Amino acid sequence: YFISLEGPDGAGKSSVLEQVLNEIGPQLNTQYLVTREPGGSRIAEKIRQIILDPANVKMDDRTEALLYAAARSQHVEEIVRPALAAGKVVFSDRFVDSSLAYQGAGRDLGIDQVKQINEFATGGIEPDLTLFFDLDPKIGLARIQKLRPDQEDRLEQEKLAFHEKVYAGYQKIARQNPDRIVKIDASQPFDQVEAETIAIIKKRLPD
Ligand code: C5P
Repeated sequence: YFISLEGPDGAGKSSVLEQVLNEIGPQLNTQYLVTREPGGSRIAEKIRQIILDPANVKMDDRTEALLYAAARSQHVEEIVRPALAAGKVVFSDRFVDSSLAYQGAGRDLGIDQVKQINEFATGGIEPDLTLFFDLDPKIGLARIQKLRPDQEDRLEQEKLAFHEKVYAGYQKIARQNPDRIVKIDASQPFDQVEAETIAIIKKRLPD
């Protein structure tokens, strides 16, 4: 069973995932694996470094989209597919929807185009459940600037307008995939977000 976590920067999905697994991990009756994108395997983490290197400001949008897809392809073949084949539950902090929202909508490459290169990259693997941590990007960015002041420069460059487009992209993708994508209001207090996340996972995970 494949679960992805999605949401704008600062929505707290990584912290929530960590807490949720501390709590319910030991109770799950199947083995589970936690991974993340971009990255998740040695080669994919190297590609992540190239993409997120602030020195690479001149990176072309298509190059960026292809690198994310390349990292994903490696991650899927090396980590995700074998784990699913072994019957494990896989939790991935970001997956294809991030590319659709950030590169498709945020960078204006088009959600459908980015979807195509990702179908090629993943061989069609899709999450069974996607938890979308829904948060106004203004709040998300404010949270990040408080938590990670070292990232301020990069965020300065990316600007709120970009994140608004990413957010609109996420909303569109969520509307198009109502069965797979479940929204969680990430503006709630952390404990509530965590409780809601646990409830959804428990309800959806097959016995
Ligand atoms: O989720 P995480 O903080 O690890 O993501 C790293 C950065 O990569 C974030 O700033 C996110 O906005 C960006 N990103 C992106 N396009 C993707 C996935 C992540 O721009 N497809």
